[in-house]
Amino acid sequence: MDIASASVDRVFDYRVPSAMQEPGWRVRVPFGPREIEGYVIALSETTELDKSKVRDIAAVLDETPALLPEMIDLARWMQKKYHCRLVDALRLMIPAQMRGGRVREKTVRMARLAVSRETALAEAERLSRRAPVQAAILKTLAEGDKTLAALAEMHASANSAARALSSKGLLAFENKPIRRMPYQSLMGDGSEALELLPAQRAAADQIGAALRGEPGAPFLIRGITGSGKTEVYFESIAETLKLGRSAIVLVPEISLTPQMVQRFTRRFGPLCAVLHSRLSVGERYDEWQRIRAGEARVVIGARSAVFAPAERLGLIVVDEEHELSYRSETQVRYDAVEVAEARCAMAGAVLVMGSATPSIVRFHGAESGKYRLLTLESRAMGELPEVTVVDMCQELLGGNRSIFSRTLYRRLKGCLDRKEQAILFLNRRGYFTFVSCRECGHVMQCEHCDVSLTYHMSERKLKCHYCGYEAELPKTCPECGSPYIRHFGSGTQKVEEEVHKLFPDTRILRMDADTTAGKEGHLKILSAFEKGEADVLIGTQMVAKGLDFPRVTLVGVVAADATLFYPDFRSSERTFQILTQVAGRSGRGERKGSVVVQSYQPGHPSVRYAKNHDYLGFYGREIGQRELGQYPPFGMFVRFVYTGTDGAALARHTETLKAAFDGYFETHDRPLLLTARPCPRERIKEKYRYEVLLKLALPLKGDILEDLYHIYEQNRAAEEFSVMEVDPVSML
Ligand code: ADP
Ligand code: ZN
Ligand code: ZN
Repeated sequence: MDIASASVDRVFDYRVPSAMQEPGWRVRVPFGPREIEGYVIALSETTELDKSKVRDIAAVLDETPALLPEMIDLARWMQKKYHCRLVDALRLMIPAQMRGGRVREKTVRMARLAVSRETALAEAERLSRRAPVQAAILKTLAEGDKTLAALAEMHASANSAARALSSKGLLAFENKPIRRMPYQSLMGDGSEALELLPAQRAAADQIGAALRGEPGAPFLIRGITGSGKTEVYFESIAETLKLGRSAIVLVPEISLTPQMVQRFTRRFGPLCAVLHSRLSVGERYDEWQRIRAGEARVVIGARSAVFAPAERLGLIVVDEEHELSYRSETQVRYDAVEVAEARCAMAGAVLVMGSATPSIVRFHGAESGKYRLLTLESRAMGELPEVTVVDMCQELLGGNRSIFSRTLYRRLKGCLDRKEQAILFLNRRGYFTFVSCRECGHVMQCEHCDVSLTYHMSERKLKCHYCGYEAELPKTCPECGSPYIRHFGSGTQKVEEEVHKLFPDTRILRMDADTTAGKEGHLKILSAFEKGEADVLIGTQMVAKGLDFPRVTLVGVVAADATLFYPDFRSSERTFQILTQVAGRSGRGERKGSVVVQSYQPGHPSVRYAKNHDYLGFYGREIGQRELGQYPPFGMFVRFVYTGTDGAALARHTETLKAAFDGYFETHDRPLLLTARPCPRERIKEKYRYEVLLKLALPLKGDILEDLYHIYEQNRAAEEFSVMEVDPVSML
């Protein structure tokens, strides 16, 4: 057999116990003078080693194989695709806490009858006068096993009575494993399905046919906000369960969307398992075990849930397919949507991706036949809100220096007067809270990183979000000495202060990274808002996603442009997506909603098309731009990022690598771009960053990524940290 071990990424042969019939076991093996943990990834009758040299494994670590056979195939696919170590891919598939045995199963001590029910009841009759507590215990246990804790609640001396019964051979104790169930408070008992609308029905029928027959090409559902995509997922999951198979649902940043989790747990009850990083170590372990044991067959989780040990997988749903949080930037740089596609292909499962604003690249894939497009064009309830765009430059010229335009102020007042709810949205935390000089334009920067410092109002301090550096707010500009240095605060706190000033009686909830610490921080804020305990919810991107509050009739986008200034080819796409998503939170109930978007660039296509909820219009324009500039899906970026303290050495290394690539391209098609340079964000946490950036025309010719990787490996400088990024998430 072969073993992939954690400290060495190679496969070794060992002898396994004859009872071992399949791979996937976690084992301990002798390795040199020590013992290490590894995974059995294949079984074989033969070995190229001298038979007498093959050592026995030391121990099998679990009661069942930790890895399903298909997960080993998936790990091999990842190893090839993402150039990662096989063992690192395997590790993603097993809860971290299982390795090294840090978590024990939690058990509870139970009492049960050791004799037949009839005997017990007869005994109880006999004991009823002399030992009434013992008699009562026997009668209780005749109805079913009880925990010792439950018995102790019956009577103070129940414990000693139980011991007495046990010594008479009438009662037995045992330890029963229990699962810590997160979200238990939210578990429903399987709520009723809604009657699907015709468009939903049509989509669900196509998915159903794929589930019952050939899986075929993945589905991409484009359904406007509120069109009822979730109900289509539900129907598909129900069909999957009926076929005796299991389903995985990926949602972006699950800890930010408790409402979504709640809807699933209400619908499918205890068949649901929830996986995400905010669960405790023990909770995650138990959820994993419930899935592995087949007790939970609907897995809801963030990107790593794509590795959940769901057997007989029939369906993977990827909600909000366009979200960048599906891309992992840790050790294994995988794309969970890509992995889902590969896993479905291996398992014969159906992949369903859904979004109101599909990523440009995947929508193009649907147009070219790689995916099957399903469309939901109208809202299940109510209609799309009307969007008003306010030109903030005009507002400023007209003498209004407030962060609220007159339109937004009027609408907010109306909304509050009518006792309806409003959401005020900021494009991201800390946006515009940088401090700059009104005379010379100097912006306060971090001393260690190439980023501007963010002003935190509550502590009256400047902070760097990358390295944590803190500074006092200067009284005068360090460049020119002018006293007119100030913060351009439109951070969430500033908005809160402003609303409070204008509408003193308004109840406000603020949702941002500062107010949502803790496992259920988001849940608390959102359920308070849902219950009507506040009138206004102020937040960053976390309020844009998947929320469904029927009483919200106004969404105000305080500053729409923040993401437009990113030096990234995706910035228009990102801005369009976020504006469309947040606008979609308004008017989801019976009353029509409205949206006010404040912008310094009201003519920008991202703003214009979002105003009209016009995805196809935006797509048509954007895909033309992409083709002109040969950006994805027509071209692809690959970059090699070097990080270190010695900038000059990094410059040399990247030049060397570029020269090696130049050599390679003498005999291959030239790339669209090849350059070595400092990264746009040149310094982070005192470390310099340099890159070799390539743009390649798609489709790729031959094994070019393989070739580039090998050239990079050969030229790797041992003392520097470096990484190959294929289709990088961020170009900074
Ligand atoms: P999406 O995920 O596409 O934004 P949702 O699934 O959240 O949309 O649905 C929006 C709202 O419409 C929800 O309140 C949902 O309960 C309701 N809804 C969806 N489908 C139906 C239906 N067939 N009949 C009645 N209400 C529906
Ligand atoms: Zn100045
Ligand atoms: Zn810094």
